[in-house]
Amino acid sequence: MKVAQFSGPSGPRVGIEHRGAWIDYGKAETVRAVLERGVPVEGIATIEELLIRGQFDAGMFRTVLGFVVENRLEKFVAMAPGATMRAPLRCPRKIVALGLNYVLHAQEGNFAVPEEPIIFEKAGSSVIGPGETVRIPRDMGRMDHEVELAVVIGTTATEVKKRNAWKHVAGYTICNDVSARDLQTKDLEKKHPWFRSKSFDTFTPLGPWIVTADEFPPPVRLPLECRVNGKLRQKANTEELVFGIPEIIEFVSRLITLEPGDVISTGTPGGIGPITNGDLVECSIEGIGVLSNPVRWR
Ligand code: MG
Repeated sequence: MKVAQFSGPSGPRVGIEHRGAWIDYGKAETVRAVLERGVPVEGIATIEELLIRGQFDAGMFRTVLGFVVENRLEKFVAMAPGATMRAPLRCPRKIVALGLNYVLHAQEGNFAVPEEPIIFEKAGSSVIGPGETVRIPRDMGRMDHEVELAVVIGTTATEVKKRNAWKHVAGYTICNDVSARDLQTKDLEKKHPWFRSKSFDTFTPLGPWIVTADEFPPPVRLPLECRVNGKLRQKANTEELVFGIPEIIEFVSRLITLEPGDVISTGTPGGIGPITNGDLVECSIEGIGVLSNPVRWR
């Protein structure tokens, strides 16, 4: 099931996809509560809140959708026409990103394939949604696209073993880990952290929505690609990850608790390349969708 975040005249709204259209989940939930139990409930307005309350639940989404269909309420609870799709998570508390997690990407940078996961953090404030503009500075050298499968954490994960890791995954989305490459290289040479090169405002396009984890039973083998102005730049499959999703969750959660709404961006395959003013970057993952963002000078 696809779950998207919208904002509209009545504030933030959560949408669930049904036959190519979006149902206002909060409104549907409220209508169901009134008709079935005679009690109005306040519909939850953000995906983040659903995750934190433990209510990001594919089974529940299906139940509410079933109610809507059965009672022919599709039009009544449709997403308001003026609502705009936003990033599924506005400002995740943690975005844990993987470095050099595909062999071809490690090789293209002349790096050795890592023996254990390389993790770094991207600032939550760098997130933008589908269609929003990546703003790049004119005077800081090369800026790159990086298509990545992003994992959304659904339940608190502390010291989780690989075999138990999947149950902490709420769903999947697409991340474009935009990178200020020259600045990153300069910082690496000085043995400084490369945090800033990954966390400029607008450098984390995320979305366009979350696909619930039940849609992709493990192992998650998804073709992914990145196109710039329609031209193919990156093409791979998540089965090529050096460290898979369970290994990453075990590695990170051993020392850092992962919380509902945290994001793990699993690393980019080979084919990274520069983006510049006027470009359109389209990151896509089969079964999820296309995350499309224009690039402009800031
Ligand atoms: Mg990356």
